Amino acid sequence: MKRDLISIDDLGRADLERYLALAAKVEGLEPEAKRDKLPGRVLAVMFFEPSTRTRLSFESAMCRLGGSVLGFSEAASTSAAKGESLRDTARTVERYAGQMVIRPPREGAARAAAEATGVPVINAGDGANQHPSQTLLDLYTIQKFFGGLKKGLRIALVGDLKYSRTIHSLVQALALFEGLEFHLVSPPALRLPGYLMETGAARKASFHESEDLRAAIRRSDVLYMTRIQKERFPDVLDYEKVKDAYVLNREMLEEAPRGLRVMHPLPRVNEIAADVDETGHAGYFEQVGHGLVVRQAVLLDLLGVAPGPTTTTRCCTSRRSRRGRSSTTSPPASGSRSWRSSTATRR
Ligand code: ASP
Ligand code: ASP
Repeated sequence: MKRDLISIDDLGRADLERYLALAAKVEGLEPEAKRDKLPGRVLAVMFFEPSTRTRLSFESAMCRLGGSVLGFSEAASTSAAKGESLRDTARTVERYAGQMVIRPPREGAARAAAEATGVPVINAGDGANQHPSQTLLDLYTIQKFFGGLKKGLRIALVGDLKYSRTIHSLVQALALFEGLEFHLVSPPALRLPGYLMETGAARKASFHESEDLRAAIRRSDVLYMTRIQKERFPDVLDYEKVKDAYVLNREMLEEAPRGLRVMHPLPRVNEIAADVDETGHAGYFEQVGHGLVVRQAVLLDLLGVAPGPTTTTRCCTSRRSRRGRSSTTSPPASGSRSWRSSTATRR
């Protein structure tokens, strides 16, 4: 049975840790060892909204695994412009490709596409909802910077907590790791949505809300900046009021703990001044770089192909296929939520 990557909320901590371990394995492989992983496989990249990193890193990931890529990067060049539904587009594309990466503008649309098709679907950001592969690379980055997602790690999430899908996915993921401390820094109009506060509370995460970026800088290990998501505001005047709410610069970081790392899913507009790039705190371009191995891990995993040179092809770990799991995969840790993969309707 096929699996998808649609929402971080579908995953448990063991699932996240498994992805991080897979990414580390992929990172450890020589380029030549990767080239024969997915020969003859085709990935469709279907982007109805702008992207630089997500699209190009998925494309690069697939090419470097020996597969090939087709797709589009704007709705205007597809039949969506004539009114075709995403479900119909997905049902068409599954005839041409064995895996899909989709960025639809509407929240929930990636899951609908996954349910309509029989090939693995990866949500590359559905509206303001979720961006799960970004979260995996964010977790991988934090793990690399700090040697793990350790108890006591202080994480400040700054900016547009209301509309940023990378924040929404990241909060759900980080709340699964006990003992982290969260500082939520935003203008009142852009606070984290209530349902995510509730998820955090249910997972016993401690959230401290404030508007004070400088105070958060003094007491954080990770400063995760975000762009104010202009395209999500129903009224552009509301955007104008908050667009410059937080602009991080080098001088502000003088008060930071020595090990603080600044992250950002990018693109930045003006929320991080260029003078931060030259400080030892800047971590956002390293973060971008991790997208490649993390997305390679995701592509391999959803296709059931083992990343290592020595292991054999593994079966998927969806609840439905658990009985068929190969002996080369370890069972999920107790307490892990099983994959809630979308219902595959093969036709
Ligand atoms: N990293 C973002 C993405 O999801 C932004 C960008 O691509 O320009 O694609
Ligand atoms: N690139 C990220 C995303 O696609 C963040 C952003 O666009 O600001 O969600």
